[in-house]
Amino acid sequence: MLPLLVALLLAAAPIAPAAPTPVATPPGLVDVAGRLPDAVLDIRYATADNFVGRPLYPVARCLLLPEAAARLERAAVALRGRGFRLLLFDCYRPLSVQRALWKAMPKRGFVADPATGSHHNRAAAVDLALADLAGAPLEMPTGFDDFGPAARAWATDGVSARARRHRALLRDAMTAAGFTVNPVEWWHFDAPGAAALPLLDLPLDGEQGAGAGPAKAGPWP
Ligand SMILES: [Zn+2]
Repeated sequence: MLPLLVALLLAAAPIAPAAPTPVATPPGLVDVAGRLPDAVLDIRYATADNFVGRPLYPVARCLLLPEAAARLERAAVALRGRGFRLLLFDCYRPLSVQRALWKAMPKRGFVADPATGSHHNRAAAVDLALADLAGAPLEMPTGFDDFGPAARAWATDGVSARARRHRALLRDAMTAAGFTVNPVEWWHFDAPGAAALPLLDLPLDGEQGAGAGPAKAGPWP
């Protein structure tokens, strides 16, 4: 009787929606969402909510080198234990996107010149803030990609006590995991040894464009 019942129930079950086609991950990189399912993705360059005002990424993903992803996981575990989640703005950034950013704002100190590259182009940098356990963004000194003086990592003018506390919590967790601080951007952290790594122009969705050939590595050009 039981097998019949199961068969009837299965027959009556609504058809499950087709699972989204998994997006390929470029070789050598790790999708952070697979390791940190509670991380909140707010990948700004996949939206128009960035300083260029249009989407530059085809997908909202946080890809990193495995070593950088393991360090980020350490920071996330430490922060989770204190009641926080990571809010991720940007991770690996293809070199072709770096060129578009540089064209929009050719200002060293805020956007890396694609000739030398950003550690984001090496999949060894991450831009992030804190969210609460419900995923709501917490007060930080400025918005992401704010180019004003309050974005500096140790700025005090115009930065509330609560924002300073959140910034310190984030910085302490990231530096304990081995990341280094960017003095002009509170949200940006580099993995150790990033400068020695090659620049990458791998597509975020893992799809090589027609005739793209193998991944290009730096130094660029
Ligand atoms: Zn950054």
